[in-house]
Amino acid sequence: MKFELVKLSYAVSDLEPVISRQTVEFHHGKHLQTYVNNLNNLIQGTKFEDAGLEIIVRESEGAMFNNAGQVLNHNLYFTQFSPAGGGEPSGKLSAAINAAWGSSDNFRKEFEAAGVSLFGSGWVWLAKDRDGKLSIVREANAGNPVTKGLTPLLGFDVWEHAYYLDYQNRRVDHLKDLWKIVDWTAVGNRY
Ligand code: MN
Repeated sequence: MKFELVKLSYAVSDLEPVISRQTVEFHHGKHLQTYVNNLNNLIQGTKFEDAGLEIIVRESEGAMFNNAGQVLNHNLYFTQFSPAGGGEPSGKLSAAINAAWGSSDNFRKEFEAAGVSLFGSGWVWLAKDRDGKLSIVREANAGNPVTKGLTPLLGFDVWEHAYYLDYQNRRVDHLKDLWKIVDWTAVGNRY
């Protein structure tokens, strides 16, 4: 198999109470595993058989795009959290956030609002362009900012499977709580 399930650097219960053990087990172990399996099946015998994940996301469509996009999205998602997370961004990323939104508080408010107002399933991303300028990008379904030539730094999953077991319909509360487990060192390393 070409693509593999991304490994977690924390135990499945380590992100509680923000993301429960049950949600991690379903989200990582079932949903993401299914996207990985589907993608590995779909690329067989196509021009994407030996392609990197980002190339597939940028150049494919339909079921191939949906599954590749969701593998890329969740690889970023599951490697941006830590039980020791939270706090504030630092260094160059902090300066860029302050330049774009005035403060990290303001950034978080705008990011949450973008996630809450996204209708249906999708993602809200912090992304940078080639000059390092930051923006908040909303993507429906399996979308990722790489299709716009941007680099994703942080992504909140607003599909109901990401929070329904723990928060039911309260997407806004889930998004506000996610900041408690964001690993700003990991996010800063993507900048
Ligand atoms: Mn998801």
